[in-house]
Amino acid sequence: MKKRSNKKAIMGVDIGGTKIAFALVSSGKLMTPVYKAKTPHGSKILNVVEEYYEQFSKKYLIAGIGISTAGMVSDDGAIVGSTGNIPGWQGTKVKAILQKKYHLPVVVENDANAAAYAEYQIGHAKGANPLLMITLGTGVGGGIVVNGRLVRGAHYAGGEIGHIKLSHDKQRHCTCSRYDCFEAYASGNGILALIKHYFPHKYKKMTTRDLFKLAKSKTKDGILAKRAIEDWHFYIAVGICNLFHVFDPEKIVLSGGLSSEIDIKYLTNETRKLSLPALSKAIHIESSVLGNDAGFIGAALLASQSL
Ligand SMILES: [Zn+2]
Repeated sequence: MKKRSNKKAIMGVDIGGTKIAFALVSSGKLMTPVYKAKTPHGSKILNVVEEYYEQFSKKYLIAGIGISTAGMVSDDGAIVGSTGNIPGWQGTKVKAILQKKYHLPVVVENDANAAAYAEYQIGHAKGANPLLMITLGTGVGGGIVVNGRLVRGAHYAGGEIGHIKLSHDKQRHCTCSRYDCFEAYASGNGILALIKHYFPHKYKKMTTRDLFKLAKSKTKDGILAKRAIEDWHFYIAVGICNLFHVFDPEKIVLSGGLSSEIDIKYLTNETRKLSLPALSKAIHIESSVLGNDAGFIGAALLASQSL
């Protein structure tokens, strides 16, 4: 007989800088379509969450709420830092407010951590120990699962891999206001810096999408675009190599909007060239199969554990 808790619906919520995604989730599977709302000012986010809760609860018995959010999250589910892209959200005691209102288990987790947990539980890298997930998008984030548990850190900054240093020559400015972070090289902004370098006369009109498209042509500019993309892969390989030698992950999963542009075989080879020879064959990189849903699915899985 199946455990009753496996059948209960969890409201999964993913709070990003531009959108909030909602769906009901049971045992990691979607029970409803994914609904999306524009992210309001931080002070209004919980109003939107409450509106969706009311809608869902008309049709379903909701047993818990799992929230994945940009920013650092404390053990008691409050937003404690790094939410520059959601003004007014820092300081919100999300878990305490929702628990008081609905008397349900509520889990609040950093979005990259939540996504890493989903990959560990139901992704292609299921059960990998350790598992390292890297999100490549406008920024660079990460999540680390060791022995089935997220590495959240002593200051809730575990997995903030975007700000490890790739260099020391102040060539690249990072969104954290420092220089030479992994994010400044591997993110969408890092690609824009490469466009500026390779196409100094055209860069203002080129997007990252233009670069990937151009790299498919056999023209002179196409060759330059390909070179820029190889540089981007090299920087990501440097970051992965550094992290690999710290955690020795069984599997590395890439997610985020830019991960679909990664040539996994090329990246794996570049990373292997940089790593200790004895370890190079152990480097295993793959793409996420959960995509944009990983954040709220992971948060829902975490919430279902507290039922
Ligand atoms: Zn930084």
